[in-house]
Amino acid sequence: MAQIGTKLRSATSNNGQHQRLMHWCPGCDEVHGITIKSSLGPKWQFNGDYERPTFNPSVLLQSNHDGEKRLPAGQMRTECHYFIRDGRIEFCGDSPHKLAGQTVDLPDWPYAPSTYGGIDE
Ligand SMILES: [Zn+2]
Repeated sequence: MAQIGTKLRSATSNNGQHQRLMHWCPGCDEVHGITIKSSLGPKWQFNGDYERPTFNPSVLLQSNHDGEKRLPAGQMRTECHYFIRDGRIEFCGDSPHKLAGQTVDLPDWPYAPSTYGGIDE
């Protein structure tokens, strides 16, 4: 995982055929990844600006678990739903966390280099 600017990290796999940009989500207090290059699945448009990024379309994270409990087959629970535009995160109202409906600056990556998960920066 490579450092690019202060807000994003880049992760590539499959000999560079698949690329995700990782950012810190202040709503979930965890890392989310957005696929911008893929030879198989869906990918998002990225404006190429690592300090004021814009991604299209919105990012929707869902889970088939509620805590430890697995939901009935076919049911999904929204965990986070947001747009990133011009370096700001716009959380949609259906995000079940504290920042639902709010727009905040995309925060700097909160970890010092070389400390996140033991992955070399
Ligand atoms: Zn989130």
